[in-house]
Amino acid sequence: MGRIVSVSNQKGGVGKTTTAVNLGASLAAAGRKVLVIDMDPQANAGSGLGIYPDQVDQGIYQALMGDVPLKAVIRPTQVPNLFLAPSTKDLAGAEIELVGAMARETRLRNLVRDVRDDYDFVLLDCPPSLGLLTINCLCAADSVLIPLQCEYYALEGLGRLLETIDLVKSALHSTLTVEGVLFTMFDARNNLARQVVEEVRSHFEGRIFNTMIPRNVRLSEAPSHGQPAILYDAASRGSQGYLALADEMLGVLSTANTSNPPAMAAN
Ligand code: ATP
Ligand code: MG
Repeated sequence: MGRIVSVSNQKGGVGKTTTAVNLGASLAAAGRKVLVIDMDPQANAGSGLGIYPDQVDQGIYQALMGDVPLKAVIRPTQVPNLFLAPSTKDLAGAEIELVGAMARETRLRNLVRDVRDDYDFVLLDCPPSLGLLTINCLCAADSVLIPLQCEYYALEGLGRLLETIDLVKSALHSTLTVEGVLFTMFDARNNLARQVVEEVRSHFEGRIFNTMIPRNVRLSEAPSHGQPAILYDAASRGSQGYLALADEMLGVLSTANTSNPPAMAAN
């Protein structure tokens, strides 16, 4: 059964889509079967994978509205093992249309249930808000991966997101966990970036990924070529960062799944 990870932060431009696309591609390169669901009407995950909204007749919006099954909108990408459920602009309307609908918070969860056995990972690329689309992602997910840009207001946004996660846990989905905080666009020469990392490390009780994604121009160029960074420039520091993140995630999960962890086996 696939692990469903919501890539969430209500703050705009912190690296959610870059993470969903490049972590997805890196997990696929490691031999895992991955589905990225683009839950943002901006459809950036689609364009970053070379699938543009004007080429999409039916996307995640139609699936959320119950017009088509999720399977019908999933497409392969240029990366073997990596698949996309694309977004279209009309997804923006779902935020309003779902307000009065039945099971409005759990539509995505019900859709994903039908496909999760087909994948090792399902990554949800959230929009920059805490509206119903993001709530649907949190309700559908096993865990939340929080990209955090190392800047002054990062902590404030993190507090609000953690409150929302707690609300979802208490009202709708008690087993939701935080997969980890991921520092993105990290520049070790920048004092403020280093301070923010220290501050989050001292205040945040959950897991923080050891891997930090560096600020790297290749990561920002790749989407304009419709490619994940590992296809555009596999040797770049950005690509290597996401490959390391995939390794870290797989390592942690395999340790968590081992009934006899190495430390115990040695006894
Ligand atoms: P939104 O909230 O609008 O959905 P987002 O959180 O998905 O934004 P991205 O679109 O991934 O953020 O990134 C914002 C911008 O920063 C993009 O132009 C992206 O190419 C660039 N970017 C992301 N990560 C990096 C990085 N590590 N180095 C350099 N540029 C980056
Ligand atoms: Mg985005």
